[in-house]
Amino acid sequence: MPENILDDISHRRYNPLRGTWLLVSPHRTKRPWQGQQESPSRVTLPDYDPACYLCPGNKRAQGDSNPQYKSTFVFVNDYSAVKEEQAEYKQAEDSKDLSSLLLKADSVTGKCYVLTFAPNHNLTLADLDPSRILPVVQAWTEIYTAHLSPTSSLANVAQPTTLAPSGISITAPNAQYRWMQIFENKGAAMGCSNPHPHGQVWTTTGLPDEPAQELEQLKKYRHEHGGCSLLADYAKLEMEKEERVVFQNKTFLVVCPWWATWPFEVMIISKGHKRALVDFGDDEKRGFAEAIAEVTRRYDNLFETSFPYSSGIHQAPLEATEEEIEASHFHMHFYPPLLRSATVRKFLVGYELMAEPQRDITPEQAAARLRDCGGPLYREAL
Ligand SMILES: [Zn+2]
Ligand SMILES: [Zn+2]
Repeated sequence: MPENILDDISHRRYNPLRGTWLLVSPHRTKRPWQGQQESPSRVTLPDYDPACYLCPGNKRAQGDSNPQYKSTFVFVNDYSAVKEEQAEYKQAEDSKDLSSLLLKADSVTGKCYVLTFAPNHNLTLADLDPSRILPVVQAWTEIYTAHLSPTSSLANVAQPTTLAPSGISITAPNAQYRWMQIFENKGAAMGCSNPHPHGQVWTTTGLPDEPAQELEQLKKYRHEHGGCSLLADYAKLEMEKEERVVFQNKTFLVVCPWWATWPFEVMIISKGHKRALVDFGDDEKRGFAEAIAEVTRRYDNLFETSFPYSSGIHQAPLEATEEEIEASHFHMHFYPPLLRSATVRKFLVGYELMAEPQRDITPEQAAARLRDCGGPLYREAL
């Protein structure tokens, strides 16, 4: 079994989704596990904070008031990274000019939203039952649908649903945007300044680097291996191997990927070839909400703390060729920085910045620990 040898020797692992490598040094984790070194953290936040710009009824920076929302609420970010309207910019095209060769720029317009996950200031996804995460999945689906290009073959596949609408309202964007990035930054360690449970949705005219790189790899795989999807094949393989599987239900697989960079990085992968949120029926949305609940609760249980991470969804671009749509395979990444406890984190520094990512604890060890952290949320018993 070559995989057993890899438990002892330093080696590189290939990430087929990005076409990159990472260095794994498992021999450095031979020292015994020190166990829990800090006392479990409790939630000390209030259910409602009059100073929070996301709590129901409160005023935001630019004077708008939040409604008394009951589950989710979406609004255009008061400090958007990209805007719908701005001055025109077009770089002069002169192939002999060094500036146009080395100082390239491209204008980007778009729209950025903030989406709250719950009205309660002191809850996180880890505290929410799948039934309370479902409206978030519904809201993501509604936002994605509202921005899909009318010429996309995905524009007409919306599945019939008996789920209640999320209650959010979206005004149509001024232009057709290419990409929608749904993401969450959780915890001060990830630079999140407000603990109120929320995520963001940024739409842009261009395709950003990470999804562009993945899409190239997904297209290449389809081209080289027939009509299959890299991630559907990968999910099937991981279900056979089992050692990196954290959790699964009928429709979704949660794994610590073979090529994970972060110590407890996981991916939620659709088992079937689903290209985007609009491909999901009610059961699949429930399955996705359950997978998110399982990941976030296990994360919190692992070090008995509110576990920081950045997570994000990759799916078909809003405006895409048929080839790009078919190559897309719905998945969600979780990149958490913690390594050994609530305060000992991994940094991507030195070798990682100058050469390539490196990790000590193997994804197989990480998956085994996350498998063992199921059960009720630790702080319910405090
Ligand atoms: Zn709040
Ligand atoms: Zn991805």
